[in-house]
Amino acid sequence: MANEVTTYQNYINGSFVSAQEHIDVRNPANGELLSRIPESSPDDVERALHAAREAQKPWARLPAVERAAFLNTLADRIRSQASALARVISAEQGKISGLAEVEVNFTADYLDYMAGWARRIEGEIIESDRPRENIFLFRKPLGVVAGILPWNFPFFLIARKMAPALVTGNTIVIKPSEETPNNCFEFTRLLDQIGLPAGVFNVVSGSGASTGNALTASPIVDMVSFTGSVETGSAIMRNAADHITKVNLELGGKAPAIVLDDADLDLAVQAIRGSRIINTGQVCNCAERVYVQRGVAEQFADRIGQAMASTTYGDPLAQPDIEMGPLINQAGLDKVAAMVERANQAGAQLVTGGGVADLGQGFHYKPTVLTGCQSDMEIMRKEIFGPVLPIQIVDDLDEALAMANDSDYGLTSSVYTRDLSSAMHACRELDFGETYVNRENFEAMQGFHAGTRKSGIGGADGKHGLYEYTRTHVVYLEI
Ligand code: NAD
Repeated sequence: MANEVTTYQNYINGSFVSAQEHIDVRNPANGELLSRIPESSPDDVERALHAAREAQKPWARLPAVERAAFLNTLADRIRSQASALARVISAEQGKISGLAEVEVNFTADYLDYMAGWARRIEGEIIESDRPRENIFLFRKPLGVVAGILPWNFPFFLIARKMAPALVTGNTIVIKPSEETPNNCFEFTRLLDQIGLPAGVFNVVSGSGASTGNALTASPIVDMVSFTGSVETGSAIMRNAADHITKVNLELGGKAPAIVLDDADLDLAVQAIRGSRIINTGQVCNCAERVYVQRGVAEQFADRIGQAMASTTYGDPLAQPDIEMGPLINQAGLDKVAAMVERANQAGAQLVTGGGVADLGQGFHYKPTVLTGCQSDMEIMRKEIFGPVLPIQIVDDLDEALAMANDSDYGLTSSVYTRDLSSAMHACRELDFGETYVNRENFEAMQGFHAGTRKSGIGGADGKHGLYEYTRTHVVYLEI
């Protein structure tokens, strides 16, 4: 039996509001129509931004602990609905059930974590050159934030933007990805029940070219907090340039994993395989290319080939025990398939996989391992965003480090070795925002998730992520 198709409404100034135009949202595992969402017009966007502007000063005047209390209440509501919310994510994004539940609970924990900063937002008192002067540095909110989201961790990324924004006294307008908006409207349904002042949190859905463009081009916005592709990040910067709007950009990655001869191979195989199949390889910080030292290269390729080949995949809602779901859409599937084909033509060899998996429906690609890759091949340089692992053999750590750093991207990196001095040398030399040593690439909320080069500007999480949503105001008081 087909599920009921929900028509969602925007959330503007504390009310759900109908739109004129709509976009269909479908399940990537089976093509089922799930919902219709607003294709918000520039006028809808303008209304949401005005509401956020009106609400901002009164919101900022509340004590931070009162603002934070709303986040704690919301976190409790989210936990109480975790399974239902996880199903919404699985249906529209293709995420397996277990991971969708992890995402929902992590989101609730994140709201609590950011709420916990309320009593620790700090300014400074600075020594003056004058005898009767005090220099105070206040930390203030930026104003109105536009939060633009991708589809791969759609629920968590709402919290990653709204929690630090709200606790520091900003208001926000969120635009979810048109691929995965349903979970955002379900988040909003819960938020609507907690008594948050109208206009503090708003949602306008729609396509990037129309709704996203209107949001980022508006002079009302004080900061665009964006997670998504490099291409969209560039377009957003161009829009932001017109009004000198602050941008915080979390963009793509091409994370290198370096496996040295003295690595714990069991650990490296398990962690790197996990990195390639989690969310069907559609994670910005997960290992996208391996540099393996010659002494263990054959063994590593054999073992990770077998491990990848054993991966179970299918429709996450129909088969709750599988390890991997579909890719997000036809374009994603075509891109991965074409990249593997070009890698083969350029001389890479398949250890396992290669090709679209014919399950009768859905955007499934076989878990794939390629050896014989060279650093000038597209597969070692461009983001794949699928369950494909290209491997290149290196002679030593320094060769691996030079290749790892020779990239447009600079988000995450990882090293597998039992030798402390090799690990420390790698950490000093790697030009990336994050390095994971002997563990999978997954960040902690108290760290700082940030990329160099084309992987972004600014960052998220922890104290530094919180302060991205603030500006400083220095006061010189002579008395
Ligand atoms: P995308 O750039 O296609 O879309 C992201 C969002 O931007 C969507 O909401 C889209 O509607 C909107 N958008 C598109 N064009 C726009 C425009 N001109 N103006 C304003 N908004 C516009 O990215 P995606 O396909 O949704 O996500 C995948 C990408 O996100 C990958 O490159 C991945 O690496 C990256 N990502 C990065 C991080 C990180 O933390 N660095 C996290 C998750 C995903």
